[in-house]
Amino acid sequence: MFVYIRQKPKWPAALLSAILFLCITLLQGCGEKEPQLHTHSGMTMGTTFTVKWFSRDSNHAAVSTRINRLLADVNQSMSTYIPDSELSRFNRLPANQKAEVSPALSFVVGLGLNISERTSGAFDITVGPLVNLWGFGPDGRVVKAPSEQEIEAVRHRIGYQSIQLNNNLLSKNVNSYVDLSAIAKGYGVDVIAEFLEKSGIDSYLVEIGGELRAKGLKPDGQNWRIAIESPVSGPGREIQKIIAVKDVGIATSGDYRNYFEENGVRFSHTIDPNTARPITHRLASVTVLAETCAEADALATAMMVMGADKARVFAETEAIEALFLVKSDKGFEEFMTSGFKQYLVN
Ligand code: ADP
Ligand code: MG
Repeated sequence: MFVYIRQKPKWPAALLSAILFLCITLLQGCGEKEPQLHTHSGMTMGTTFTVKWFSRDSNHAAVSTRINRLLADVNQSMSTYIPDSELSRFNRLPANQKAEVSPALSFVVGLGLNISERTSGAFDITVGPLVNLWGFGPDGRVVKAPSEQEIEAVRHRIGYQSIQLNNNLLSKNVNSYVDLSAIAKGYGVDVIAEFLEKSGIDSYLVEIGGELRAKGLKPDGQNWRIAIESPVSGPGREIQKIIAVKDVGIATSGDYRNYFEENGVRFSHTIDPNTARPITHRLASVTVLAETCAEADALATAMMVMGADKARVFAETEAIEALFLVKSDKGFEEFMTSGFKQYLVN
């Protein structure tokens, strides 16, 4: 039996080499295409945010839309400024009633309680009634310090030990009011960072109200550079230090942006849960590095409460890298943990 197979026409050699040349050029073209810098910014949590990332894809609109959605979700869960947020609903709940909360809220409350324990209560998410009394919460600003009686009247409501968290069940055994303002911005940064990573973006800088997270190197091989403000009040901003970082969360707490003054005395928005009053020491700002921004955010507030001496000991014992700016007669004195120095550029 004889099977006839039709001979395929041979490709002319010149055509083959032309195709080969075209393929190689296209491939080289792809390899050479530089990642582009994308920026998306806006308002969230009563402040501004900026996200920068390098990507070869033209996915700017999709990434930006997703970032807005993620931030709206964090706010709808954790804001005390939104009356029907998950947290506001929990705050209105009577004592000893369990609320089923989202994994996100449970995670942030859990981290907040953990940081309270590590900082012996310097950080305390139940400080909210005092925050409101001193005019730094949703109830609006005040122009004078509250009276001793007003402070005493809310003191029994303060104390993180009154909060119980059991997986996703949250309750309180007194009429507590939870305020996540000192950790939620950092958490928002982490949520965006994780989304970018899942999207295959490995070089980014995410910032909400000065709390940041940086990842990877820029296409020129350089680290992301972060300017740390000089803790001076007023409209202008001065740079105190520049640090070059990679794969880290960074937060700065300070007494120089958010405060009110009465008879020349400055009352900061950082409240010492122990005294029930705004901090009064000479630590003007502290910048903290941690694996996540939520942790850095909460630790920065906690260390601000501790004051320079205690916070420096705490940082060394817990192996936390931090930079402290302390008011002095000549301006500011700088202190830093031994490991912080490696990040300094100037
Ligand atoms: P900063 O950048 O100065 O740390 P944040 O916005 O991160 O400022 O945190 C300040 C907010 O944290 C206050 O407005 C208040 O709502 C809340 N807060 C104040 N004192 C404490 C505290 N001791 N523990 C936890 N949260 C606090
Ligand atoms: Mg903070």
